Amino acid sequence: MPSQTLFLNPLPKTPLQPTSTLLSESALNYQDSYVCPVCRHGQISAMTLMDAFACSFCRHIFSANLPTQSIQVVDSSQPMSWRWNGQKWQSVYRDAPSLTLVVWLIGIILVTLPGSIVWLSSALFPPLPTSTWAWFPKVWVICTFGIHFLMVSWLVVEHYQLPLYVSTRIRVAQWLGRR
Ligand SMILES: [Zn+2]
Repeated sequence: MPSQTLFLNPLPKTPLQPTSTLLSESALNYQDSYVCPVCRHGQISAMTLMDAFACSFCRHIFSANLPTQSIQVVDSSQPMSWRWNGQKWQSVYRDAPSLTLVVWLIGIILVTLPGSIVWLSSALFPPLPTSTWAWFPKVWVICTFGIHFLMVSWLVVEHYQLPLYVSTRIRVAQWLGRR
């Protein structure tokens, strides 16, 4: 039925619109609010009379550079910055590579060294197999490895400021503050 086909195509054929203009793409400005790049939970919006943004959730403050469409966190030990690409944040400069190297070096030493020392001492001076505490060195070695591993994991997520870690930490702080 040709009439029905005509009815289904009422719009004249036009060249495809560039899809980017149809999406909610906008340049970084002080009127809008954006998802926080640190906690990925709160919204950052401009602070009154300042070239800066603040997060409603994690309270981090960011200095803004509109010509380069970028922001940098100013109240953190990590000099992290992000560029707004119109839709989301892109990490520009994570941190000093030397600091990352130190963090990983300390991490590896902290995980391996104490546990190895405890294991070595139990291997050199093993308890009597008939002793009731014969199981103790093994458990102690596992605990030493486990606890140091947890410590290093915390160090690594703190260093990289993982969004999930940051938002969880703030929720816990808020929960503790409410009690
Ligand atoms: Zn935030």
